[in-house]
Amino acid sequence: MLPESADLLESLATHAAVLDAAGVIVAANASCRALLGEIEAGEVIGRLFAAYCEKLLSPAAAAGVREGLASVLSGTAQRYEMDLFCGKPQHPVWRALCATPLAGPTRGALVVLADISRQKQLEEHILHDAFHDTLTGLFNRALFLNRLEQSIKRLKRNPQALYAVLYLDMDRFKLVNKTFGHVTGDRLLMVIANRLQKLLRDVDTLARFGGDEFAILVEDVGGLTDASAMADNVLRQLAAPFRLKKQEIFVTCSIGVVLGSAAYEHPDQVLRDADNAMYSSKEHGGDHYTVFDAGMRVVTQRRMEMELALRQALESGEITVHYQPIVSLSTGDITGVEALARWQHPRQGNITPSEFIPIAEETGLINDLGALVLRESCRRMVSLGRANPDAAKLTLSVNISGRQFKRPDFVEEVAGILTETGIDPSLVRLELTESVLMDNADEAVATIKRLKALSVKVVIDDFGTGYSSLSYIQRFPFDSLKVDRSFVGNMNEAEQNMEIVRAIIAMAHKLGLEVVAEGVELDEHRTALTDLHCESAQGFYFSRPVPGDELDALIKRGVNGESPSS
Ligand code: C2E
Ligand code: CA
Ligand code: CA
Repeated sequence: MLPESADLLESLATHAAVLDAAGVIVAANASCRALLGEIEAGEVIGRLFAAYCEKLLSPAAAAGVREGLASVLSGTAQRYEMDLFCGKPQHPVWRALCATPLAGPTRGALVVLADISRQKQLEEHILHDAFHDTLTGLFNRALFLNRLEQSIKRLKRNPQALYAVLYLDMDRFKLVNKTFGHVTGDRLLMVIANRLQKLLRDVDTLARFGGDEFAILVEDVGGLTDASAMADNVLRQLAAPFRLKKQEIFVTCSIGVVLGSAAYEHPDQVLRDADNAMYSSKEHGGDHYTVFDAGMRVVTQRRMEMELALRQALESGEITVHYQPIVSLSTGDITGVEALARWQHPRQGNITPSEFIPIAEETGLINDLGALVLRESCRRMVSLGRANPDAAKLTLSVNISGRQFKRPDFVEEVAGILTETGIDPSLVRLELTESVLMDNADEAVATIKRLKALSVKVVIDDFGTGYSSLSYIQRFPFDSLKVDRSFVGNMNEAEQNMEIVRAIIAMAHKLGLEVVAEGVELDEHRTALTDLHCESAQGFYFSRPVPGDELDALIKRGVNGESPSS
């Protein structure tokens, strides 16, 4: 070794050593000697470099380094580079090893070891962030998709390697955030993540997709029974209350379950189906799991098209509210109005509610639509009432769809709109149809009571078209009843219909309910209903539904071409 070479080594900022053709260390700078001395005490010069690697690395890694060095020493490779993990898991130290052949007849190699721990740490950080959810520390969507793709491929190779995906969406989580604040909402998500994690085996993957959505990839499931049992288990685990800041919070979730099949080519397809099944669980009122079946896909296509058009309509203001007066049969005065949604489509013209309401129900857009109609009509009545004292006393009837009614945060939403618009709640009448009452009567009663606690009135709409009898609706605390227009319309032609209307009105009165008849088209209808002591009526005879900006004039004019008596 020439003296200049030794100086050269010393001047290098990294750990550096020179090996001879056999891999024996013939020179090393001070920092390299110190480093190797830490690995094994004693003289460094004269020892095999590979011996230190064996002390430091796993057998496989050490073998790799030995081979790499050998190829440089023999001249078959011009360079060998390897990142070596030298520390302990708690104290990771990374060094980049680089070996290059030395020119000259003696052969040998120059080995440098650079400390790259900081760089590795950063890399790991970036990698971790790329695949993890920062809030819960769970895997994120990107990693989940990656794992799911592996599972899809595995199943194609081996039909036994069945997997299942559970797609979870917390019910009424918005409400949690609203009630307890976002900090608690976030903490709750962390605790939920923790509970879910405990349900899983090592091979399963739990990810948070953002918001209150989670997904579980279950590997090697036996079949549908296994997957369902897993979903059931999740529901049960979440059923126990969460204790945060001495408060008990209850959360439920809706789950969509998809069992892997050879038909799936891409993770997105699996997730789309899982999402649809989850959606069915929501429709069920939450706290429920649904296993995907192919029938859901056909519905999805149609739903998506209409949903798109309707969603745009809701945003672009194509949905407006018209108002039909409700008239007192004893005085002829307008006592209230019913708000009715209208869709003015730029190309298709008017689309009737009977067409778009069912689609709004099906797609869940009814929630937005219903809120829009309630908010808009409350605003309208408040502003009318400010300008016109007669209008200030008018009741406002708004239709509520079954799906809207069953939403866990429906009552809170109504309360919010009442406060926001400043309407007198006792003027608001929410119209519910019988279908709402059939599914879960106890829950319906509870919701109606909560609504009434807001001071709003509750009306049973379209009475007579469903299957419920008056004795059945007795269980529900309604304020009034609307006789469906199908009975009123041909009341005078068919004696039977007249009898039905008579019976409904008489029995409703016995239950203490006021009666509104709809579909009054002729003077004879009005007279007959007045004779039957029906309180109020609405129909084309009095007025068709009118746009909001015509309502003021209509109220001032009255429905018989005269001003309402003052
Ligand atoms: P509905 O609650 O029974 O509303 C009364 C319907 O009868 C309205 O139809 C109204 O225009 C019509 N009508 C009023 N007077 C007469 C009459 O004398 N003769 C006849 N033949 N019809 C009359 P519209 O506006 O087409 O609404 C149809 C249904 O769509 C409503 O029936 C209601 O169930 C639903 N709907 C309308 N707006 C909304 C809404 O904002 N939310 C919800 N959930 N449903 C709505
Ligand atoms: Ca109605
Ligand atoms: Ca009706």
